[in-house]
Amino acid sequence: MPRAAVYSHHFRCAARFRVGRVFLAGDAAHAMPPWIGQGMAAGVRDVANLCWKLDAVLSGQLPEPVLDSYEADRKPHVKEVTRRAVFVGRIITERRRPVTWLRDAVLPVLNGVPGLASGCRTRTGFPSPATTPGSRPAPVPAHPAARSRSHT
Ligand SMILES: Cc1cc2nc3c(=O)[nH]c(=O)nc-3n(C[C@H](O)[C@H](O)[C@H](O)COP(=O)(O)OP(=O)(O)OC[C@H]3O[C@@H](n4cnc5c(N)ncnc54)[C@H](O)[C@@H]3O)c2cc1C
Repeated sequence: MPRAAVYSHHFRCAARFRVGRVFLAGDAAHAMPPWIGQGMAAGVRDVANLCWKLDAVLSGQLPEPVLDSYEADRKPHVKEVTRRAVFVGRIITERRRPVTWLRDAVLPVLNGVPGLASGCRTRTGFPSPATTPGSRPAPVPAHPAARSRSHT
């Protein structure tokens, strides 16, 4: 029995990822179409960006305003990943016959051309997450036990 389903996708991005002591991360901060499988990955990147900053501020190693770099780091990346997801989604969901023929017949051939596929993936895949200047994690000092082991 043929199955048919209509899926709809949204792009939503919170106006602010931080309001005072409240931070939004993951789908609470942004939702994107699933075409390049980056929804959850974006949330993981959010908390990876935020957690070390919270830790550094709470332990007094960094000043509190560094927490503002969380949104500055994450929002442009989320928007760019979403733009690429929408682009890939347009190709996947294309219904015009000449275009679907190009997609289904020509793309697999082009996929076999060395270098071409990886180049296209770089342009349409997900960009490296950025970290604003001054908000990079400080190098973690080696654990004393590891240091003593390395001297023996
Ligand atoms: C069909 C599909 C395929 C997907 N494929 C991929 C993929 O391949 N790769 C990828 O990276 N991402 C994928 N995603 C996206 C991914 O699933 C989500 O981005 C991710 O689960 C979001 O995690 P989250 O913790 O931010 O939010 P959620 O998973 O929504 O978790 C929020 C949690 O909070 C709970 N909650 C809500 N309100 C309250 C409240 N008031 N009090 C207490 N708890 C509350 C909810 O019950 C829920 O457990 C896909 C999503 C879908 C729907």
